[in-house]
Amino acid sequence: MASVIVTGSSRGIGRGVALRFARDGYDVAVNYVQSADAAGALVDTIETDVETDAEAIAVQADVGDPEDAERLVDETIDAFGDVTHVVNNAGIDQHVYTEDLSPKDFDRVMDTNVNGAFNVTKFALPYLREAAESGADPSVTNVSSILAHTGAPIECHYAASKAGILGLTKSHAKDFAPEIRVNAVAPGHVETDMTADRSEEERAEEMAGIPLERFGQPEDIAQAVAYLRDATWVTGETLNVNGGELVR
Ligand code: NAP
Repeated sequence: MASVIVTGSSRGIGRGVALRFARDGYDVAVNYVQSADAAGALVDTIETDVETDAEAIAVQADVGDPEDAERLVDETIDAFGDVTHVVNNAGIDQHVYTEDLSPKDFDRVMDTNVNGAFNVTKFALPYLREAAESGADPSVTNVSSILAHTGAPIECHYAASKAGILGLTKSHAKDFAPEIRVNAVAPGHVETDMTADRSEEERAEEMAGIPLERFGQPEDIAQAVAYLRDATWVTGETLNVNGGELVR
């Protein structure tokens, strides 16, 4: 059986990715930092409603903390015996002008968004290599953002973290080839808690730049992650999934 760790999968995009992997037959480690009830409910959904034999566990771990990240991997191995895929999705955002942005808050966003992806990948690496030796096609998919390409007003640390994810992705793709493929997905505006605070005016302005005339859903991103998981000759790539928004 194959298994996946999806970081930050109690809600939003990560939840959609976890469900997609379960529907495709993978055991899933659902990771969260504080939403224990939501993570537990997702485990129940996977084990009772999904029509595959997929099993699931919920693991509380702050991915920015190396000890937590290592425990997340260990608990996944204890439960499933392998880790064949990692989706580094956990992320936080904050809207604040640089003048008002504290170095501590800058670090907090970097810790979760960049260090978190590094930490989980690092501790999963021996198991991903083991999976490759057994004939699997292991992969890591990192969740970046359209803002990695465009930059963003009032969230420079977030945009920098998401650009950092692209550097991490390309570097790890080279480091881990040919055994493990590493790619990134760069979503545009997806309707989750992270974007729920946008005003009607901001939403209208963002929508005007989206040729497909709708915001994304977690399932749209899950579909792209599933493609990268299955794309056996693709590594070091970034897949932009944003309804056709111009990236520049
Ligand atoms: P969300 O709805 O706010 O969910 C964030 C998830 O990350 C939650 O499961 C949260 O767990 C978890 N999390 C936060 N900090 C964590 C930590 N330190 N350790 C482990 N888990 C942590 O966010 P989302 O919109 O689904 O975003 C998911 C990813 O997509 C993020 O990396 C985000 O930057 C990226 N993204 C989102 C959009 C968008 O428009 N929504 C666009 C581009 C990229 P708890 O529930 O326990 O708090």
